[in-house]
Amino acid sequence: MIKPNIELKDIKIVYNLGNSNEVRAANGASIEIYPQEYIDLFGPSGCGKSTLLYCILGALPPTFGELIVNSENPYLYSPKRMVQYQQETVGIVYQAFYLIPSLTVLNNVALPQIFGEISSAQRKDRAMQLLKRFEVDQQADKLPTALSGGQQQRVAVARSLVNNPEILLADEPVGNLDSISAKKVMDTLEEINQKDKKTVILVSHDAKYLPYAHRVYYMKDGKVDREVANPEKPQIKKTKKTRALVTELEMLARIYPYLSQEELKVKSIINYLTREVNIEQIIRLEKIVETMIKGRINKDRFFQVLSDPFARGGVGIHQATAKKMAEKIERILIESREIRRYRRGESVEEKEDTTKEKALIQKLRAYVLDMYE
Ligand code: ADP
Repeated sequence: MIKPNIELKDIKIVYNLGNSNEVRAANGASIEIYPQEYIDLFGPSGCGKSTLLYCILGALPPTFGELIVNSENPYLYSPKRMVQYQQETVGIVYQAFYLIPSLTVLNNVALPQIFGEISSAQRKDRAMQLLKRFEVDQQADKLPTALSGGQQQRVAVARSLVNNPEILLADEPVGNLDSISAKKVMDTLEEINQKDKKTVILVSHDAKYLPYAHRVYYMKDGKVDREVANPEKPQIKKTKKTRALVTELEMLARIYPYLSQEELKVKSIINYLTREVNIEQIIRLEKIVETMIKGRINKDRFFQVLSDPFARGGVGIHQATAKKMAEKIERILIESREIRRYRRGESVEEKEDTTKEKALIQKLRAYVLDMYE
């Protein structure tokens, strides 16, 4: 059975322990990450995501709890072994890039190999290969400040990979970038996960990057609030089959990524209480409504699919409700066609009662004017 390569066991990290400015940044966080997974630690600013990342990096020992990487606790390593861990097991990229301003781009990338037994020429060769791969080789001899933000971050990614670590940590890596550069860096991280088979741990507060991850740990107040597998990606961690309520919670979680587990439960229960249909049915309903709007099926067929049992590909709605829905949607479609024609300036056939109303308005208007005179 496949085992996690990274385990955070009930991690608590307290800054300024015992002082008046004590902060419980991690407050009992437990996380399991598997080889070659892409994990997003997601949550609002200040919830303790970076704290956990620095803990995995070997830079922040837990106040309580244990970090296990490849069956070992790095915080029990000798200083020499810890250096090796930080070179060969984990690499990191930061939001602020942290390139050394006085070194050329090439030397920034080559530098972390200096402690290995590799010749200077080999170090530069390897650095250049990575710069080429991330399309910043033209900038090799420049100082970092001469590069755009997106280019600097790709240099930082090259630097993080120069010792070929197994795990890449990314702390809000695109927080300082425009959307085009951000996409390029995010695609680069995905490629490092998919092609290079590296475990990637992304820290982010931006929901638009959630689809990149295999799994997301939603964090709140220094703890994991909930864990959600991305249904669009094949899962590396084997999960048990979920029951209907959990499935509904997961679906709600996709619709409302910022809600906490408690808030989702409330929403889910309200769904059950107030709706005849569940979320899975709504998703199917959305598809069939789209087909109807596009004019690919008529009202009768719409009714049929709505009332067919869910197990046979239908939406599974009671016949009487399905009939009402079919009538309503037909009316909406006719009205929207009329509105379109009206907007185009074509005459819309007036219904009898509107004509009557208009006549009444005319009469009332005449009466009011009369009175005024
Ligand atoms: P996130 O990455 O989710 O934004 P952080 O892990 O950076 O959150 O911070 C969690 C909490 O710990 C915040 O309240 C933050 O202000 C506090 N914190 C972070 N680093 C330190 C530090 N070095 N000293 C004291 N408090 C800190």
